[in-house]
Amino acid sequence: MSEQFDLVVIGGGSGGLAAAQRAAQYGARVALVEASGRLGGTCVNVGCIPKKIMWNAAGIAAALHDAPDYGFSVSVQGHDWAALCERRETYIRRLNDIYAANLAKRGIEWLSARAALEDAHTVRAGERRLSAAHIILATGGRPMVPELPGAALGLTSDGFFALRQPPQRVAIVGSGYVAVELAGILAGFGSEVDLLMRGDTVLRSFDPMLGEETLRALTAMGVRPHARALPGALARQSPGLVLTLRDGRRLQPLDAVIWAIGREALVADLALEKIGVARTADGFIATDALQETNVAGVYAIGDVTGRAQLTPVAIAAGRRLCDRLFGGQPGRHLDYENIPTVIFGHPPVGTVGLTEPAARERFGADNVKVYRSGFVPLYHALTHTKVRCEMKLVTVGEEQRIVGLHAVGEGADEMLQGFAVAVRMGATKRDFDDTVAIHPTSAEEFVTMR
Ligand code: FAD
Ligand code: NDP
Repeated sequence: MSEQFDLVVIGGGSGGLAAAQRAAQYGARVALVEASGRLGGTCVNVGCIPKKIMWNAAGIAAALHDAPDYGFSVSVQGHDWAALCERRETYIRRLNDIYAANLAKRGIEWLSARAALEDAHTVRAGERRLSAAHIILATGGRPMVPELPGAALGLTSDGFFALRQPPQRVAIVGSGYVAVELAGILAGFGSEVDLLMRGDTVLRSFDPMLGEETLRALTAMGVRPHARALPGALARQSPGLVLTLRDGRRLQPLDAVIWAIGREALVADLALEKIGVARTADGFIATDALQETNVAGVYAIGDVTGRAQLTPVAIAAGRRLCDRLFGGQPGRHLDYENIPTVIFGHPPVGTVGLTEPAARERFGADNVKVYRSGFVPLYHALTHTKVRCEMKLVTVGEEQRIVGLHAVGEGADEMLQGFAVAVRMGATKRDFDDTVAIHPTSAEEFVTMR
């Protein structure tokens, strides 16, 4: 016998939790199945939250370093990494409990089990069978590990969060979000970091200014970047790990190697093939603009779809889908254009809209005008360490509509949200010019560019 629900959600991460709660608010009977035993998914347990805590800690290390330049006499006796991690995990356990309480409050049934599809309207969760008109797949992803000899000796971002002491010497393979963030954190804590980039720079999918400046800042922190560095093999040879690159270069001895080469969909256990759910070439669940798969009644949201793998994207996709399914809002869906994002580097990167090359390609080079500003922020006027800020506006057409806004520098993380609203609303350069600046800030450069 199967139990009847209006909606079954598989996956209790950012997307699944948001979808389940939105549906329940509309009065739907909802069951949510989560395999890991704790709610919150990647973001809460091994992603955004623990990462941001480590980023904050590395920021404090930088501030302590700068303190004498502001007249402080400080003597730091060391840092207790294990204690920091313990506090971080205690906080995360609190979040896990809050999520469970929220589900209970909204009458959502939470099952701790690994779920699989039986048919288009039935989910098997342990011994139980759950039937519903609608099934949302929100199973997220996991870090990719390259196929090469000894790869299992390396860590992923999951393993980074399990470290109980910082590695003294570490190689990070990759040059995207995770690689840049972990390189900054570890360098901030004093680790010797080798960064292996497949190309010539970091953050290649973003506006070129961001990668250039981020690489400069990482290098200034002591990170050693290696261009066109593809890993070939990893081995343990006393006194540490040896990473051999495909071109014969060797890095040794290393305490840790971190693979940061992207994430793959977590779908192996779902039995998608049973009902013929289509996948993309990269193995993600294929969805249309309404988050629908090719099987009626089966939807997918968040990282498992491979589209903009960010927490607020998973949440927004889930909420809008349930507004449509249960809230009487036909056609409501997430627009994947102009999604703002931040890479929590040291300094952070904030970006929304088109890169300069993408704008030139889409609108024609003659129709694009770019404004750029670079400076040392006031904070660093007094410090020996100078961390620059670089900002760029990409505008299109005679009215100079802003289609891209990019910043790297202190405060870029907090700057972006408000500017993203303006970009989404179609703001022009004139709108920016007509906005009175806030002084003295770095953000004011966006409204004073010439
Ligand atoms: P997830 O959060 O991964 O949730 C999926 C859930 O499904 C998991 O709990 C899993 O256990 C469960 N599951 C899987 N298979 C089954 C099954 N068969 N049955 C039952 N349950 C199952 N994003 C940001 O916006 N900002 C950040 O700063 C940020 N930092 C990040 C840092 C790191 C190191 C990483 C790895 C990611 C970061 N992200 C960040 C991305 C963010 O974590 C993800 O985009 C987000 O968690 C995706 O949510 P989701 O619901 O799609 O999947
Ligand atoms: P990214 O997609 O950001 O970057 C992957 C990197 O791996 C790229 O630099 C790519 O190189 C490189 N790469 C890919 N394959 C190989 C290979 N075989 N050998 C060597 N290098 C390779 O993935 P991440 O793992 O960094 O992060 C996963 C996702 O999680 C992100 O896309 C993001 O959506 C999310 N995330 C978000 C964060 C945030 O919001 N702040 C923080 C962390 C993660 P190349 O550049 O040359 O293509």
